[in-house]
Amino acid sequence: MNVNKKHGLFQELFMPTYAPFEKVFVRGKGTVLYDIEGRSYLDFCSGIAVNNLGHCHPEVVRAIREQTGKLMHISNLYIHNVELELAELVAGMTFPGRLFLCQSGAEANETAIKLARKYARAALKQDRYKFVTAMGSFHGRTLGTIAATGQEKYKVDFEPLPEGFVHVPYDDLDAVSEAIDDKTCAVMVEPVQGEGGVVIPKDGYLKGLSRLCADRGVLLILDEVQTGFGRTGTLFAFQREGIKPDIITMAKAFGGGLPLGGVMARPEVAAAFSPGNHATTFGGNPVTCSAALAVLRVMERENLPERAVTMGARLISGLGGMKNDYPELIRDVRGRGLMIGVELIGNGKKAQDLCNSKGLLITCIQEKVLRFTPPLTVSAEEVDSSLEIIREVFQEMTGK
Ligand SMILES: *Cc1c(COP(=O)(O)O)cnc(C)c1O
Repeated sequence: MNVNKKHGLFQELFMPTYAPFEKVFVRGKGTVLYDIEGRSYLDFCSGIAVNNLGHCHPEVVRAIREQTGKLMHISNLYIHNVELELAELVAGMTFPGRLFLCQSGAEANETAIKLARKYARAALKQDRYKFVTAMGSFHGRTLGTIAATGQEKYKVDFEPLPEGFVHVPYDDLDAVSEAIDDKTCAVMVEPVQGEGGVVIPKDGYLKGLSRLCADRGVLLILDEVQTGFGRTGTLFAFQREGIKPDIITMAKAFGGGLPLGGVMARPEVAAAFSPGNHATTFGGNPVTCSAALAVLRVMERENLPERAVTMGARLISGLGGMKNDYPELIRDVRGRGLMIGVELIGNGKKAQDLCNSKGLLITCIQEKVLRFTPPLTVSAEEVDSSLEIIREVFQEMTGK
């Protein structure tokens, strides 16, 4: 069956929620993906900031293989060893607290939302239920998380949504301060906005939020689903400003490609939940936990957050040079670590499609921002090859 036929079959078989690239992929290794025709691609999408160790990292593959031969699923009615080891490691890498494991970013955020309300009512004995979140944010696709998300396009035709979400401009401490009232239980933001267009707040924003939340008696929830696991140059983005959030949510890169989400909360906050309040059948499955253990060990041993800094600087510097050469096409180049956005003046989708067809997989968000989220294991040569492809694309688009 040829590629066009497979693409047609995809459209016939699946709900039309996605509009995928026309190629069909069969294999991946490190930064490189191979399609059924044997062509290779530099994967700077990384499954949307998931494959932080690249495709099929041998240690992750080995961990999964070994665990599937031992124990695959027992539910949360029973305890297994792998989750205990993982929770200890996550606490060591974040802050002392208690963990909840689930499958996705949206589910992690749903959990954080329920926990913050439960904490206000059960622990503080206050009827606080409102959340202050940011315009341009993205927190997932469930009803609760699209209510939290500060972008209208995700909500159209899905109302009514859960109540209690107030949206304020991102990177604006005064706006948060004004929005908090005696019904607010938490402030929830991304340390760097991802789907919103790789939006980086000013230094001190997170520190300011942390102080503000403490002063006003509300929780600070950081959605680290995209920024987590080394992506922005520290293991978690909150660590850059040395703050202590009350709750962080994680997913994407956590399971090394297997679906794993998590919520880490300060012990007093976590204690608001009691058995029966919240659950998920597959949460903390031994196989996903074994993959995560391998991810975290490799990340620490190879100091991958540091690599995100050096490779990110190399990519940003190359892209910055192109901004000088093509000012009519590029409005802005920004990034932190290996979470990088190039804001175009013109057609972002066209630039994305040209890059993809030339063998560099990147994504276009907000119609005008090209997002680069390569594996943290990306080599200097691969960064340089990607820059050559992008330059070709910009040359083609401008005719220069
Ligand atoms: C991707 C993402 C989510 C949603 O994660 P899913 O696993 O797709 O549910 C939530 N928050 C942020 C910041 C994300 O980037």
